[in-house]
Amino acid sequence: MAEIQKKPVKITETILRDAHQSLIATRMTTEQMLPIIDKMDKVGYHSVECWGGATFDASLRFLKEDPWDRLRKFRDGFKNTKLQMLFRGQNILGYRPYADDVVEYFVQKSVANGIDIIRIFDCMNDLRNLQTAVKAANKEKADAQVALSYTLGDAYTMDYWVDIAKRIEDMGANSICIKDMAGLLLPYEATELIGALKEAVDLPIQLHTHYTSGVASMTYLKAVEAGVDVIDTAMSPFALGTSQPATEVMVETFRGTPYDTGLDQKLLAEIADYFRPIRDEALDSGLLNPKNLGVNIKTLLYQVPGGMLSNLTSQLKEQGAEDKYYEVLEEVPRVRKDLGEPPLVTPSSQIVGTQAVFNVLMGERYKMATKETKDVLSGKYGATVKPFNPDVVKKVLGDNPEVITCRPADLIPDELDTLRKECEQWIQQDEDVLTYALFPQVAVDFFKYREAQQTKIDPVVADTESGSYPV
Ligand code: MN
Repeated sequence: MAEIQKKPVKITETILRDAHQSLIATRMTTEQMLPIIDKMDKVGYHSVECWGGATFDASLRFLKEDPWDRLRKFRDGFKNTKLQMLFRGQNILGYRPYADDVVEYFVQKSVANGIDIIRIFDCMNDLRNLQTAVKAANKEKADAQVALSYTLGDAYTMDYWVDIAKRIEDMGANSICIKDMAGLLLPYEATELIGALKEAVDLPIQLHTHYTSGVASMTYLKAVEAGVDVIDTAMSPFALGTSQPATEVMVETFRGTPYDTGLDQKLLAEIADYFRPIRDEALDSGLLNPKNLGVNIKTLLYQVPGGMLSNLTSQLKEQGAEDKYYEVLEEVPRVRKDLGEPPLVTPSSQIVGTQAVFNVLMGERYKMATKETKDVLSGKYGATVKPFNPDVVKKVLGDNPEVITCRPADLIPDELDTLRKECEQWIQQDEDVLTYALFPQVAVDFFKYREAQQTKIDPVVADTESGSYPV
């Protein structure tokens, strides 16, 4: 009898990034993470996702931690495991497009401080917005993984995904990730999608999803059977709900099959034991909302990522308009269509969500348009898969609007020198200018705090955005 060919599925562990970002608003501290790193390093994960995404912003803003310092501590602790970060293409870890020189320098410093794999995505899936980051990662000899923001809609056909995957292969990426931030990919669709991609390209394929809609571990099962190379999972105390499927569950599922991960369940159990009290504490303090742990089937109905739902709720609460929740939810897909039907992921999710809130609360659609809505309609975030609604363009931008069709960053002059001058007085390390570039106000508050700590003066830190501190 012919021996069955073994094809172990690899695991990217997300507990140090996406899992706590999705469940407890990215509030896990470096101090909480460091004691378990030694054990995590022995597991044999394909990689540990531990940096980027919202961790940078949250470290500075809420934890008063230097994100670069966190990364260096990870690098010291993880001697055998690849460290992975999430990178928003030309938006880096911020919310607007940056000049190429900032993107290049950020990539350079991320790698210099310890990152091995950079997962790069664009909220429009406009590959021109990924070009600079991919090239920079190649130059620094890091793994450039391009992530496709997975979404549903007329334009997002199998041909669309296959075509874009081929173009990613051509642009010099080392692997492809299907990034399903809202948990929309259903199990049998995963069979079809992964099968088609494996046939079309030679690059390794990784799948990232969220448990939000309740189908995620079944989706992984079908994806693995269809040949996916790597899946993203989270240790059980911070798995499920708006986070990823549980690492231990997936490891056990494939045990003894050709897809056996070979990971040691006993070691995983010890790691889970470490994180469980942190989860319990978060539940007790209210940081972990039990609502985030259930199945939210609305995500399939409205195709809205979990994080966006909670943003909408808090925006409406601030306005005293919680009764408008469902009206806003129904407005979201309409705004998305008007704006060329982009995927809903940072920052397009915030842009579409905020505009939907305005449209409902003002009682007239686009009576008021945000700056970001105007920028999207002017092409400053890149090309969308479908054309904009011409009536909306006219209402928001007027009759002869200035619209760009080139790669948006081509029009952004280098800005590193200017930024350096602006924050000169605070700089203690090369990386500080990047921190300042991404979040100027928050960075300066942090620099003041840091200086006060160093001179042992009571810090007087103006927390200008404390209103957004979740409970
Ligand atoms: Mn995610």
